[in-house]
Amino acid sequence: MLHQGIRDVTVVLMGLILHTQGVLRNFQPPKTTIRIGAIFPRDTISEVVFASALAQANMESERYNFVMAVEYSPYGNSFTASKAACKLIASGVVAIFGPTDATSAAGVAARARTAKIPHIQAVWRPPPARSLQPPSSPSINLYPEAVALSKAVAIFIKDSDWSTYTLLYDDDQGLIRFQEILKHADPEHKWLVKKLTPGEDNRSLLKTLKATGETRVVLDCAADRVLDYLRQANDVKFFEDYMSYVLMNLDAHTLDLQELRNGMSNVTCLRIFDHSDPKTEAHLLNWQARKSEVQIPKKTQQITVEAALANDAARLITDAVESAPEEFKIEAKEIECGSEDQWEIGDDFLNHIMTNPIVGITDKVKIDNVTGDRTKFNFEVMELSNSGFNSIAKWDADAGHFNYARSANDVSDLLAEKWQNKTFKVVSRIGAPYLVLRKPKDGEELTGNDRYEGYSKDLIHEILKESLHLNYEIEIVPGNGYGSYNKEKKKWDGLVGHLLERKADLAICDLTITYDRRSVVDFTTPFMTLGISILYSKAPPAPPELFSFLKPFSVDVWIYMAAAYLMVSLMLHLLARLAPNDWENPHPCDKSPEELENIWHIKNSCWLTMGSIMTQGSDILPKGYSTRWVCGLWWFFALIMCSSYTANLAAFLTNAAMDDSIKSVDDLAMQTKIKYGTVLGGSTYMFFKKSNVSTYQRMWTAMESARPSVFLKNNDEGVDRVQKSKRQYAFLMESTAIEYQLERKCDLMQVGGLLDSKGYGIAMPFFSSYRTAVDNAVLKLAESGKLVELKNRWWKPEVEVCVSVEDGEEGAAAELGIDNVGGVFVVLGIGCGIAAAMGFLEFMWHVREVAIEQKMTQSEAFWAEMIFALSFWETEKPVQHSPPTSSASSSTSKHSRTSSVLRSAADLFKMDFLNK
Ligand code: ASP
Repeated sequence: MLHQGIRDVTVVLMGLILHTQGVLRNFQPPKTTIRIGAIFPRDTISEVVFASALAQANMESERYNFVMAVEYSPYGNSFTASKAACKLIASGVVAIFGPTDATSAAGVAARARTAKIPHIQAVWRPPPARSLQPPSSPSINLYPEAVALSKAVAIFIKDSDWSTYTLLYDDDQGLIRFQEILKHADPEHKWLVKKLTPGEDNRSLLKTLKATGETRVVLDCAADRVLDYLRQANDVKFFEDYMSYVLMNLDAHTLDLQELRNGMSNVTCLRIFDHSDPKTEAHLLNWQARKSEVQIPKKTQQITVEAALANDAARLITDAVESAPEEFKIEAKEIECGSEDQWEIGDDFLNHIMTNPIVGITDKVKIDNVTGDRTKFNFEVMELSNSGFNSIAKWDADAGHFNYARSANDVSDLLAEKWQNKTFKVVSRIGAPYLVLRKPKDGEELTGNDRYEGYSKDLIHEILKESLHLNYEIEIVPGNGYGSYNKEKKKWDGLVGHLLERKADLAICDLTITYDRRSVVDFTTPFMTLGISILYSKAPPAPPELFSFLKPFSVDVWIYMAAAYLMVSLMLHLLARLAPNDWENPHPCDKSPEELENIWHIKNSCWLTMGSIMTQGSDILPKGYSTRWVCGLWWFFALIMCSSYTANLAAFLTNAAMDDSIKSVDDLAMQTKIKYGTVLGGSTYMFFKKSNVSTYQRMWTAMESARPSVFLKNNDEGVDRVQKSKRQYAFLMESTAIEYQLERKCDLMQVGGLLDSKGYGIAMPFFSSYRTAVDNAVLKLAESGKLVELKNRWWKPEVEVCVSVEDGEEGAAAELGIDNVGGVFVVLGIGCGIAAAMGFLEFMWHVREVAIEQKMTQSEAFWAEMIFALSFWETEKPVQHSPPTSSASSSTSKHSRTSSVLRSAADLFKMDFLNK
């Protein structure tokens, strides 16, 4: 029983001990209450955020209970703010945050400094004058330090390649900020500073700025006034395409600018914290959990910089209290304003706050313990797109520059999205093959872009519609000009002028990229390369000549050749008579001949030389050294002359002899008979006008002084004039246009090569946000071969019109008419006639001889010889021996042998005749 009793007591005691241990374990000493002062205008998000941050700190803290002692003071009322500060100091606070406007904050800072209560603010404050020493206990400012902020904006302006810009501000602080920006600006930049009047109509000022052609604006004003100013700018078309705005206000990215999206301006601003960061979202949940009489932001985007900094200020104070060393007895002291009393540990506590970095919504908060300014912060450049503001670059505080994070694809995606609802205005000019009016088919009514066709239309369609999926409409520039600067009117005309007046987004045609044009508008990469050349009309074909085969050699050469022929023949004859080797035994079987024979009488000599020069050779050849040498040289002469003749003959017979009046630009420049000109005001015109090359300068003087004017409105007029001028006018034109004309007009030709090298580009106003996208599209089309395809489509005619000799069929190249070679037939005919005459004379001479030898009448001999000659079946002629005479020697005379053959023929004839 006793045991049982003891056991029970033990159990009870054990239970008691365990319970006591549990109680002791759960026991917490009471938290020290820390009062933190805050001054806000009524009903601000900042107050909720500040209170919420303290509540969060309370939850996390084991030692302290943070209590917000709040006082209200309207914006800009430094008197009430000062009074509120006094009240807070009198009630005993360890630090004061606020108020959130610069004027009131300065008063509160002074009060706090006197009582040595740490003061924290989050407002922009101007950089202190260099001569001023920072106060011994500075007030901490979490707002980005003025100089660093301005420097970041200045660097962004430089990165954006702005060379001229306008700075618009509406209060004195804005002007100070601009001063800081301009201190870091490039000295080469041109800028203009203008003041806007808050709450009033600033349209006339904005209109004047637009008239100056300004496209870059830095706008500094309170967040709630940004929309008003931008609306006014939009009203006067100063918030249009090509305009770029940088909004200085760090809350600008929280604004809803969707209503101005049609303006299409490029809007950028800076932000110092990321709303989408999970840290910020966690804070938001915390704030939403907190019941408050003020409206809690529904979206993190609505959290202003002021609210975010209020959160970080609360965090900075609570963290400093938490982490304060043991020796700090953080106990607030009630100090009356105006009294000499101060918080003893105030300075140390302030110092501790400044040296105790935290990580808040605006990332790391590090304070400079001399100035009290925040030294490091994260800037991000935000750009407005259809989906709101997107980050395009991050500030690297250590390196002092922005890191741009967008790839080319990101840019074009964003652009495609941005320009989706826009119809691009594409300006062009009429001129084949780039753009011409389409001929409607039966009953067809053409509207919009269907009214046109040509290379330019296809190209812009490929770029805007196919590559970038954008809409466009083509319009024709009034005056159909390319674009030249009029010094009197101080204005650009044509396509360039149209772009400068912002009447179009893109200009496309055979628009040459020139330095002057490039200095006022932007160009894409060239889509076609070319150079200036000369368009001239071909010489009319020479009438075919009967004796054109004589043309390869001049008359002189023919005469020299004939003379050489006679000389060499004669020389051969003489040398052969001198050369012993050319005296031959007429009867080789007779070993000891009584006579030697020389066959190189003048007839045979001429025959050999004739055979050689006709490349036929001869059956008899000389044997003497000298004669062979002469013969060899004559063959060499014949070889060269025949080859030269053959080589030249083809050209002469095809009438392809080139007209040699103008072969190059120098030939054109050196003469005055043939006039020449260009398109008025085009790049070719400017090329000659501005050239430093003496030839071109001379040509320019000639062109300028020519009457009537040699300058024409367009290429078509130039081509027309060349065709009609009967070779009295040449047109200086771009090679691509010449190429196009030569495919269609066979009477035209290009003279000489290219005078220069340049390209056609698509022009657009400076700073067009679609420039990169359009440029990339051109490059892609070039790489894919599309540009070549387009060129072939518009340059090559459907049916080939001009077939040149080189291009034609092989047979066609050599085709010659009887007009070309008739002379050769004539020569052959005359030659044959002469041969026939000679043959007849020879025959008659022979008949005479026969008649004498055979003692026949002339007529008998004639008929006998004629009948025998016409007896084609007779292939052998009997030798008739003449009646023996004392003087005649039948054995040695060849003649006598032949005569006897004929005599027998005559006898036959006689018998035949008598029989009849
Ligand atoms: N394509 C030229 C231009 O852009 C016209 C020319 O001079 O031939 O001005």
